Amino acid sequence: MLSARELATFRKQLLAWFHQFQRDLPWRRTQDPYRIWLSEIMLQQTRVAAVIPYYKKFLERFPDVQTLAAAPQEDVLRLWSGLGYYSRARNLQKAAQQIVAKHDGKFPTHPEDVLDLPGIGNYTAAAILSIAFGQKHAVLDGNVARVLARLSAIRGDLREPRRWEKLQQTADALLDTNSPGDWNQAIMELGATVCTPKSPQCLLCPVAQFCEGRKLGIAEDLPEKRKKRATIQVTLAAAVFTDKNGWTLLLPPPTDKNQAGLAAFIPTIVSRLWHFPTVSANGDPAAKLRTFLKRFLPRERIAKWKLAPAAKVRHAVTYRDITIFPFRINLKKLPRIPGAKHAALHEISVLPVSNLTRKVAQSAETAAIPLSKKR
Ligand code: SF4
Repeated sequence: MLSARELATFRKQLLAWFHQFQRDLPWRRTQDPYRIWLSEIMLQQTRVAAVIPYYKKFLERFPDVQTLAAAPQEDVLRLWSGLGYYSRARNLQKAAQQIVAKHDGKFPTHPEDVLDLPGIGNYTAAAILSIAFGQKHAVLDGNVARVLARLSAIRGDLREPRRWEKLQQTADALLDTNSPGDWNQAIMELGATVCTPKSPQCLLCPVAQFCEGRKLGIAEDLPEKRKKRATIQVTLAAAVFTDKNGWTLLLPPPTDKNQAGLAAFIPTIVSRLWHFPTVSANGDPAAKLRTFLKRFLPRERIAKWKLAPAAKVRHAVTYRDITIFPFRINLKKLPRIPGAKHAALHEISVLPVSNLTRKVAQSAETAAIPLSKKR
Protein backbone atom coordinates (compact mmCIF):
# COMPACT_ATOMS: atom_id res chain seq x y z
CA MET A 1 0.00 0.00 0.00
CA LEU A 2 1.57 3.31 -1.08
CA SER A 3 1.09 6.57 0.81
CA ALA A 4 -0.43 9.49 -1.15
CA ARG A 5 3.03 10.95 -1.59
CA GLU A 6 4.57 7.69 -2.75
CA LEU A 7 1.70 7.19 -5.17
CA ALA A 8 2.28 10.65 -6.69
CA THR A 9 5.99 9.87 -7.12
CA PHE A 10 5.21 6.45 -8.57
CA ARG A 11 2.90 7.96 -11.19
CA LYS A 12 5.27 10.79 -12.02
CA GLN A 13 8.23 8.48 -12.53
CA LEU A 14 6.37 5.95 -14.64
CA LEU A 15 4.81 8.60 -16.88
CA ALA A 16 8.11 10.46 -17.31
CA TRP A 17 9.80 7.20 -18.28
CA PHE A 18 7.00 6.43 -20.76
CA HIS A 19 7.20 9.85 -22.37
CA GLN A 20 10.94 9.48 -22.83
CA PHE A 21 11.28 5.81 -23.79
CA GLN A 22 8.02 4.66 -25.37
CA ARG A 23 8.34 2.83 -28.67
CA ASP A 24 7.17 4.70 -31.74
CA LEU A 25 4.20 2.55 -32.81
CA PRO A 26 1.72 3.49 -35.56
CA TRP A 27 -1.32 3.31 -33.26
CA ARG A 28 0.33 5.72 -30.85
CA ARG A 29 0.16 8.49 -33.44
CA THR A 30 -3.63 8.66 -33.41
CA GLN A 31 -6.60 9.22 -31.14
CA ASP A 32 -9.02 7.70 -33.64
CA PRO A 33 -10.95 5.06 -31.65
CA TYR A 34 -11.27 2.86 -34.76
CA ARG A 35 -7.49 2.66 -35.18
CA ILE A 36 -6.86 2.15 -31.48
CA TRP A 37 -9.52 -0.54 -31.38
CA LEU A 38 -8.00 -2.29 -34.40
CA SER A 39 -4.54 -2.26 -32.82
CA GLU A 40 -5.86 -3.66 -29.53
CA ILE A 41 -7.63 -6.51 -31.32
CA MET A 42 -4.62 -7.33 -33.49
CA LEU A 43 -2.28 -7.24 -30.50
CA GLN A 44 -4.27 -9.91 -28.65
CA GLN A 45 -2.05 -13.03 -28.62
CA THR A 46 0.24 -11.47 -31.25
CA ARG A 47 3.61 -9.71 -31.05
CA VAL A 48 3.95 -6.03 -31.93
CA ALA A 49 6.46 -6.67 -34.74
CA ALA A 50 4.08 -9.14 -36.39
CA VAL A 51 1.11 -6.79 -36.06
CA ILE A 52 2.60 -3.62 -37.63
CA PRO A 53 2.51 -4.69 -41.34
CA TYR A 54 -0.99 -6.18 -40.94
CA TYR A 55 -2.22 -3.05 -39.21
CA LYS A 56 -0.98 -0.81 -42.02
CA LYS A 57 -2.35 -2.98 -44.82
CA PHE A 58 -5.70 -3.38 -43.08
CA LEU A 59 -6.09 0.38 -42.73
CA GLU A 60 -5.17 0.97 -46.37
CA ARG A 61 -8.07 -1.27 -47.40
CA PHE A 62 -10.47 -0.41 -44.52
CA PRO A 63 -9.64 3.15 -43.45
CA ASP A 64 -12.79 3.58 -41.36
CA VAL A 65 -15.56 1.69 -39.64
CA GLN A 66 -18.01 2.17 -42.53
CA THR A 67 -15.68 0.61 -45.10
CA LEU A 68 -15.03 -2.33 -42.80
CA ALA A 69 -18.73 -2.83 -42.09
CA ALA A 70 -19.63 -2.89 -45.80
CA ALA A 71 -16.80 -5.17 -47.00
CA PRO A 72 -17.27 -8.83 -47.99
CA GLN A 73 -16.15 -11.00 -45.05
CA GLU A 74 -13.78 -12.82 -47.35
CA ASP A 75 -11.81 -9.57 -47.97
CA VAL A 76 -11.51 -9.00 -44.22
CA LEU A 77 -10.28 -12.54 -43.63
CA ARG A 78 -7.84 -12.29 -46.52
CA LEU A 79 -6.16 -9.26 -44.94
CA TRP A 80 -6.08 -11.11 -41.62
CA SER A 81 -4.65 -14.23 -43.18
CA GLY A 82 -1.48 -15.29 -41.34
CA LEU A 83 -2.25 -13.32 -38.18
CA GLY A 84 -4.21 -16.24 -36.67
CA TYR A 85 -7.18 -16.33 -34.26
CA TYR A 86 -9.59 -15.46 -37.07
CA SER A 87 -12.58 -15.04 -34.77
CA ARG A 88 -10.98 -11.68 -33.96
CA ALA A 89 -11.45 -10.55 -37.58
CA ARG A 90 -15.00 -11.87 -37.76
CA ASN A 91 -15.96 -10.13 -34.52
CA LEU A 92 -14.24 -6.93 -35.60
CA GLN A 93 -16.41 -6.76 -38.68
CA LYS A 94 -19.59 -7.70 -36.79
CA ALA A 95 -18.80 -4.94 -34.28
CA ALA A 96 -18.21 -2.46 -37.12
CA GLN A 97 -21.63 -3.37 -38.53
CA GLN A 98 -23.18 -2.88 -35.09
CA ILE A 99 -21.51 0.55 -34.77
CA VAL A 100 -22.92 1.59 -38.15
CA ALA A 101 -26.40 0.21 -37.41
CA LYS A 102 -26.78 1.35 -33.80
CA HIS A 103 -24.38 4.25 -33.31
CA ASP A 104 -24.51 6.05 -36.63
CA GLY A 105 -20.98 4.91 -37.49
CA LYS A 106 -19.44 6.60 -34.42
CA PHE A 107 -17.53 4.52 -31.91
CA PRO A 108 -19.66 4.47 -28.73
CA THR A 109 -18.39 6.20 -25.61
CA HIS A 110 -20.57 4.51 -22.96
CA PRO A 111 -18.81 1.49 -21.42
CA GLU A 112 -21.98 -0.61 -21.65
CA ASP A 113 -22.30 0.06 -25.38
CA VAL A 114 -18.63 -0.72 -25.93
CA LEU A 115 -18.84 -3.98 -23.97
CA ASP A 116 -21.89 -4.91 -26.05
CA LEU A 117 -19.73 -5.02 -29.21
CA PRO A 118 -18.61 -8.50 -30.33
CA GLY A 119 -15.02 -9.31 -29.39
CA ILE A 120 -14.63 -6.51 -26.85
CA GLY A 121 -14.09 -7.41 -23.20
CA ASN A 122 -13.15 -5.36 -20.15
CA TYR A 123 -9.51 -4.91 -21.10
CA THR A 124 -10.13 -3.73 -24.68
CA ALA A 125 -12.99 -1.46 -23.62
CA ALA A 126 -10.81 0.18 -20.96
CA ALA A 127 -7.93 0.60 -23.40
CA ILE A 128 -10.05 2.26 -26.12
CA LEU A 129 -12.06 4.47 -23.77
CA SER A 130 -9.00 5.71 -21.92
CA ILE A 131 -6.68 6.21 -24.92
CA ALA A 132 -9.21 7.61 -27.41
CA PHE A 133 -11.55 9.47 -25.04
CA GLY A 134 -9.52 10.07 -21.88
CA GLN A 135 -11.99 8.12 -19.72
CA LYS A 136 -10.85 6.91 -16.29
CA HIS A 137 -10.67 3.14 -16.74
CA ALA A 138 -7.64 1.09 -15.75
CA VAL A 139 -6.60 -1.74 -18.06
CA LEU A 140 -5.86 -5.21 -16.76
CA ASP A 141 -4.61 -8.06 -18.93
CA GLY A 142 -1.97 -10.74 -18.42
CA ASN A 143 0.83 -8.27 -19.16
CA VAL A 144 -0.38 -5.66 -16.66
CA ALA A 145 -1.27 -8.35 -14.10
CA ARG A 146 2.32 -9.61 -14.16
CA VAL A 147 3.66 -6.12 -13.42
CA LEU A 148 1.15 -5.58 -10.60
CA ALA A 149 1.82 -9.02 -9.12
CA ARG A 150 5.53 -8.22 -8.95
CA LEU A 151 5.02 -4.71 -7.61
CA SER A 152 2.78 -6.03 -4.82
CA ALA A 153 4.43 -9.47 -4.46
CA ILE A 154 1.19 -11.32 -5.16
CA ARG A 155 1.55 -15.08 -5.25
CA GLY A 156 -0.75 -17.75 -6.68
CA ASP A 157 -2.76 -18.08 -9.89
CA LEU A 158 -3.50 -14.53 -11.05
CA ARG A 159 -6.50 -15.68 -13.09
CA GLU A 160 -8.24 -17.05 -10.03
CA PRO A 161 -11.38 -14.82 -9.93
CA ARG A 162 -10.89 -13.28 -6.49
CA ARG A 163 -7.21 -12.60 -7.14
CA TRP A 164 -8.03 -11.06 -10.52
CA GLU A 165 -10.61 -8.82 -8.88
CA LYS A 166 -7.98 -7.71 -6.35
CA LEU A 167 -5.58 -6.95 -9.20
CA GLN A 168 -8.26 -4.85 -10.90
CA GLN A 169 -8.70 -2.90 -7.65
CA THR A 170 -4.93 -2.34 -7.53
CA ALA A 171 -4.91 -1.19 -11.17
CA ASP A 172 -7.81 1.20 -10.44
CA ALA A 173 -6.04 2.62 -7.39
CA LEU A 174 -2.79 3.24 -9.31
CA LEU A 175 -4.48 4.82 -12.37
CA ASP A 176 -3.43 8.40 -12.98
CA THR A 177 -6.83 9.97 -13.55
CA ASN A 178 -5.29 13.09 -15.08
CA SER A 179 -3.93 11.11 -18.02
CA PRO A 180 -5.57 7.67 -18.02
CA GLY A 181 -4.68 6.90 -21.64
CA ASP A 182 -0.99 7.58 -21.21
CA TRP A 183 -1.04 5.85 -17.84
CA ASN A 184 -2.49 2.65 -19.25
CA GLN A 185 -0.03 2.68 -22.12
CA ALA A 186 2.82 3.34 -19.71
CA ILE A 187 2.07 0.34 -17.54
CA MET A 188 1.58 -1.84 -20.64
CA GLU A 189 4.89 -0.56 -22.03
CA LEU A 190 6.64 -1.34 -18.77
CA GLY A 191 5.39 -4.92 -18.96
CA ALA A 192 6.29 -5.27 -22.62
CA THR A 193 9.81 -3.85 -22.50
CA VAL A 194 11.19 -3.90 -18.92
CA CYS A 195 9.09 -6.05 -16.59
CA THR A 196 9.06 -8.85 -19.16
CA PRO A 197 7.88 -12.41 -18.39
CA LYS A 198 11.42 -13.77 -18.18
CA SER A 199 14.27 -11.81 -16.59
CA PRO A 200 12.69 -8.48 -15.66
CA GLN A 201 15.25 -5.70 -16.06
CA CYS A 202 14.84 -4.20 -12.62
CA LEU A 203 17.95 -2.04 -12.98
CA LEU A 204 16.20 -0.11 -15.77
CA CYS A 205 12.83 0.04 -14.05
CA PRO A 206 11.52 3.54 -13.31
CA VAL A 207 9.48 2.32 -10.32
CA ALA A 208 11.92 -0.22 -8.87
CA GLN A 209 11.99 1.47 -5.48
CA PHE A 210 8.28 0.64 -5.02
CA CYS A 211 8.54 -3.00 -6.04
CA GLU A 212 7.83 -5.51 -3.28
CA GLY A 213 8.72 -8.46 -5.49
CA ARG A 214 12.16 -7.03 -6.10
CA LYS A 215 12.69 -6.21 -2.40
CA LEU A 216 11.85 -9.79 -1.48
CA GLY A 217 14.03 -11.19 -4.29
CA ILE A 218 11.09 -13.07 -5.82
CA ALA A 219 10.29 -10.87 -8.85
CA GLU A 220 11.50 -13.46 -11.35
CA ASP A 221 9.35 -16.16 -9.73
CA LEU A 222 6.17 -14.12 -10.18
CA PRO A 223 3.61 -14.69 -11.38
CA GLU A 224 3.59 -18.26 -10.15
CA LYS A 225 3.01 -20.85 -12.87
CA ARG A 226 -0.55 -21.86 -13.68
CA LYS A 227 -1.35 -25.52 -14.15
CA LYS A 228 -1.03 -26.15 -17.87
CA ARG A 229 -3.60 -28.17 -19.74
CA ALA A 230 -2.01 -31.40 -20.94
CA THR A 231 -0.99 -31.39 -24.62
CA ILE A 232 -3.07 -33.60 -26.91
CA GLN A 233 -1.46 -35.24 -29.94
CA VAL A 234 -3.61 -35.04 -33.08
CA THR A 235 -2.92 -36.82 -36.37
CA LEU A 236 -4.59 -35.67 -39.57
CA ALA A 237 -4.43 -36.40 -43.28
CA ALA A 238 -5.15 -33.81 -45.98
CA ALA A 239 -5.91 -34.22 -49.68
CA VAL A 240 -4.17 -31.73 -51.96
CA PHE A 241 -5.72 -32.24 -55.37
CA THR A 242 -3.96 -30.74 -58.36
CA ASP A 243 -4.72 -30.68 -62.06
CA LYS A 244 -2.33 -30.27 -64.96
CA ASN A 245 -2.40 -26.48 -64.59
CA GLY A 246 -1.37 -26.61 -60.95
CA TRP A 247 -4.83 -25.71 -59.63
CA THR A 248 -6.06 -27.20 -56.40
CA LEU A 249 -9.31 -27.56 -54.50
CA LEU A 250 -10.30 -26.09 -51.14
CA LEU A 251 -13.36 -26.85 -49.05
CA PRO A 252 -15.41 -23.91 -47.73
CA PRO A 253 -15.07 -22.62 -44.16
CA PRO A 254 -16.55 -25.31 -41.87
CA THR A 255 -20.01 -24.81 -40.45
CA ASP A 256 -22.00 -27.09 -38.17
CA LYS A 257 -23.88 -28.30 -41.25
CA ASN A 258 -21.04 -29.13 -43.64
CA GLN A 259 -18.88 -30.66 -40.90
CA ALA A 260 -21.59 -32.86 -39.38
CA GLY A 261 -20.17 -36.22 -38.35
CA LEU A 262 -16.52 -35.10 -38.50
CA ALA A 263 -14.12 -34.63 -35.61
CA ALA A 264 -15.32 -31.54 -33.74
CA PHE A 265 -11.86 -29.99 -33.54
CA ILE A 266 -11.28 -29.78 -37.32
CA PRO A 267 -13.05 -26.38 -37.69
CA THR A 268 -10.83 -24.93 -34.94
CA ILE A 269 -7.68 -26.37 -36.44
CA VAL A 270 -8.38 -24.85 -39.86
CA SER A 271 -9.50 -21.59 -38.18
CA ARG A 272 -12.95 -21.87 -39.84
CA LEU A 273 -11.40 -20.84 -43.17
CA TRP A 274 -10.97 -22.37 -46.62
CA HIS A 275 -9.01 -25.61 -46.24
CA PHE A 276 -7.93 -28.81 -47.92
CA PRO A 277 -10.15 -31.86 -47.33
CA THR A 278 -8.86 -32.93 -43.92
CA VAL A 279 -9.65 -35.87 -41.70
CA SER A 280 -8.57 -37.27 -38.35
CA ALA A 281 -6.18 -40.08 -39.27
CA ASN A 282 -4.81 -42.27 -36.52
CA GLY A 283 -3.59 -45.55 -38.03
CA ASP A 284 -3.20 -45.51 -41.81
CA PRO A 285 -3.57 -41.85 -42.95
CA ALA A 286 -3.90 -42.71 -46.67
CA ALA A 287 -6.66 -45.25 -46.01
CA LYS A 288 -8.50 -42.83 -43.71
CA LEU A 289 -8.27 -40.14 -46.37
CA ARG A 290 -9.67 -42.39 -49.11
CA THR A 291 -12.64 -43.31 -46.92
CA PHE A 292 -13.19 -39.65 -46.12
CA LEU A 293 -13.09 -38.57 -49.77
CA LYS A 294 -15.77 -41.14 -50.62
CA ARG A 295 -18.17 -39.04 -48.61
CA PHE A 296 -17.79 -36.15 -51.10
CA LEU A 297 -17.18 -38.20 -54.23
CA PRO A 298 -19.26 -41.38 -54.01
CA ARG A 299 -19.06 -41.97 -57.78
CA GLU A 300 -15.27 -41.70 -58.11
CA ARG A 301 -13.00 -44.75 -58.10
CA ILE A 302 -10.92 -43.35 -55.30
CA ALA A 303 -9.25 -46.71 -54.61
CA LYS A 304 -7.48 -46.33 -57.98
CA TRP A 305 -6.09 -42.87 -57.24
CA LYS A 306 -2.41 -42.48 -56.44
CA LEU A 307 -1.93 -40.64 -53.19
CA ALA A 308 1.58 -39.19 -53.23
CA PRO A 309 2.73 -38.54 -49.67
CA ALA A 310 4.32 -35.15 -49.05
CA ALA A 311 6.53 -34.30 -46.09
CA LYS A 312 4.52 -34.38 -42.89
CA VAL A 313 3.69 -31.02 -41.30
CA ARG A 314 3.80 -30.11 -37.62
CA HIS A 315 1.61 -27.39 -36.16
CA ALA A 316 0.41 -26.35 -32.72
CA VAL A 317 -3.00 -24.85 -31.94
CA THR A 318 -3.43 -24.02 -28.23
CA TYR A 319 -3.03 -27.36 -26.43
CA ARG A 320 -3.13 -29.50 -29.57
CA ASP A 321 0.11 -30.74 -31.09
CA ILE A 322 -0.82 -31.59 -34.66
CA THR A 323 0.91 -33.85 -37.16
CA ILE A 324 -0.64 -33.70 -40.60
CA PHE A 325 0.12 -36.00 -43.53
CA PRO A 326 -0.57 -34.19 -46.82
CA PHE A 327 -1.19 -36.34 -49.90
CA ARG A 328 -0.94 -34.89 -53.36
CA ILE A 329 -3.55 -36.31 -55.73
CA ASN A 330 -2.86 -35.30 -59.29
CA LEU A 331 -5.83 -35.64 -61.67
CA LYS A 332 -6.52 -34.49 -65.23
CA LYS A 333 -9.52 -32.57 -63.92
CA LEU A 334 -10.26 -31.50 -60.37
CA PRO A 335 -13.26 -33.35 -58.90
CA ARG A 336 -16.53 -31.50 -58.45
CA ILE A 337 -17.43 -30.95 -54.80
CA PRO A 338 -20.36 -28.62 -54.07
CA GLY A 339 -19.19 -25.34 -52.50
CA ALA A 340 -15.51 -26.05 -53.13
CA LYS A 341 -13.18 -23.38 -54.52
CA HIS A 342 -10.46 -23.88 -57.12
CA ALA A 343 -7.23 -21.91 -56.81
CA ALA A 344 -3.62 -22.08 -57.97
CA LEU A 345 -1.69 -24.15 -55.43
CA HIS A 346 1.23 -21.72 -55.35
CA GLU A 347 -1.13 -18.81 -54.66
CA ILE A 348 -2.92 -20.32 -51.68
CA SER A 349 -1.31 -17.87 -49.29
CA VAL A 350 -3.17 -14.88 -50.77
CA LEU A 351 -6.51 -16.50 -49.84
CA PRO A 352 -8.10 -16.41 -46.39
CA VAL A 353 -6.56 -19.65 -45.15
CA SER A 354 -4.95 -20.68 -41.87
CA ASN A 355 -1.23 -21.07 -41.33
CA LEU A 356 -1.79 -24.82 -41.18
CA THR A 357 -3.31 -24.80 -44.67
CA ARG A 358 -0.36 -22.76 -45.97
CA LYS A 359 2.09 -25.24 -44.50
CA VAL A 360 0.21 -28.13 -46.11
CA ALA A 361 0.27 -26.34 -49.48
CA GLN A 362 4.01 -25.72 -49.22
CA SER A 363 4.67 -29.34 -48.37
CA ALA A 364 2.45 -30.60 -51.20
CA GLU A 365 4.17 -28.37 -53.74
CA THR A 366 7.39 -30.31 -53.25
CA ALA A 367 5.79 -33.80 -53.39
CA ALA A 368 6.31 -36.20 -56.31
CA ILE A 369 3.19 -36.13 -58.49
CA PRO A 370 2.19 -39.34 -60.23
CA LEU A 371 -0.88 -38.85 -62.44
CA SER A 372 -4.04 -40.67 -61.39
CA LYS A 373 -6.82 -41.62 -63.74
CA LYS A 374 -10.04 -39.87 -62.83
CA ARG A 375 -12.87 -42.42 -62.67
S1 SF4 B 1 11.44 -3.66 -10.25
FE1 SF4 B 1 11.62 -5.35 -11.62
S2 SF4 B 1 9.97 -6.75 -11.08
FE2 SF4 B 1 9.53 -4.79 -10.12
S3 SF4 B 1 8.17 -3.77 -11.57
FE3 SF4 B 1 10.26 -3.11 -12.02
S4 SF4 B 1 10.99 -4.54 -13.61
FE4 SF4 B 1 9.17 -5.42 -12.66
